[in-house]
Amino acid sequence: MSNQNFRSILTGSFSTPCADNPTVAMIEAAYRHAGIDARYINCDVKVAHLAAAVKGAVAMEWAGFNCSLPHKVAVIEYLDELAEAARIIGAVNCVTIRDGRLVGDNTDGKGFLASLRDVVDPAGRTVFMLGAGGAARAIAVELGLAGAAHITVVNRDAAKAETIAALVRDNTGSDATGCPWSGKARVPEGTDIVINATSVGLGDAQAMPEIDLDTLAKGQVVADVIPNPPMTCLLREARARGCTPLDGLGMLVNQGVIGVALWLGKTLDAGVMTQALRDIFGASDAG
Ligand code: NDP
Repeated sequence: MSNQNFRSILTGSFSTPCADNPTVAMIEAAYRHAGIDARYINCDVKVAHLAAAVKGAVAMEWAGFNCSLPHKVAVIEYLDELAEAARIIGAVNCVTIRDGRLVGDNTDGKGFLASLRDVVDPAGRTVFMLGAGGAARAIAVELGLAGAAHITVVNRDAAKAETIAALVRDNTGSDATGCPWSGKARVPEGTDIVINATSVGLGDAQAMPEIDLDTLAKGQVVADVIPNPPMTCLLREARARGCTPLDGLGMLVNQGVIGVALWLGKTLDAGVMTQALRDIFGASDAG
């Protein structure tokens, strides 16, 4: 009789389309490195099949799964419980299954924060953020929960910026303001952290959010959510002006680390995950 265990722990992701999502390569590289017998299955789940997919994950005793577009809000109705940030943000991208119970969390903002904390503690800091989409919303709420002093949210659609600012003011101890973005955005004096949370720069190393670069100040942290290419035009310009650049690879890697810690109670090697992404993105200038 063999006492070997041929049953792998199952984790994965539900989204559609899913073929361009590299998370599976990043997480499975780290599972292998840690000698963990677990799989991360990248599933194309159409909107009409989300309920069945969630039931299937429970039936097959998956440890947990990520939810990406378009399921981050729709998945909530199938869950038993929400973590605080997910409740405030109103979106879930990470579900843990324990004893058949489904707990939803949002690791978008947490991944960003873990990455940010490598260079600065946001507590008491003043933040200027471009964009008011899903990533911006998650980041703003986590910054608020982490004790940022003030967050200015700037967006072309000013109503979305004000909605996020109100969310921060109403649910965290931080102050926040929503502003329209017209023409070149000027970073206010006294800003500690500048964040590009728009999709500008994704897949285009020359794309630049409309910002007055002369208002960036030496010593500021300038962060970008864009993971590919990691060293965006904004980050290159910021580095040339004596700012500390922070790329979106760290956010993506830390989301993976946090998700697997929730599912398996194990901390994966962030360096292995970063390297897996760099190999995929062909990134050589991300530092
Ligand atoms: P959304 O579609 O929800 O939001 C996009 C945001 O970008 C909106 O605020 C939109 O403004 C703004 N925007 C788009 N084009 C322009 C432009 N030309 N000028 C100014 N603003 C613009 O997307 P998400 O928030 O989900 O994602 C945003 C980016 O974050 C994506 O590129 C994604 O790859 C990245 N991301 C990275 C993660 C990581 O782990 N590194 C995790 C999650 C997301 P408006 O409302 O006015 O249209």
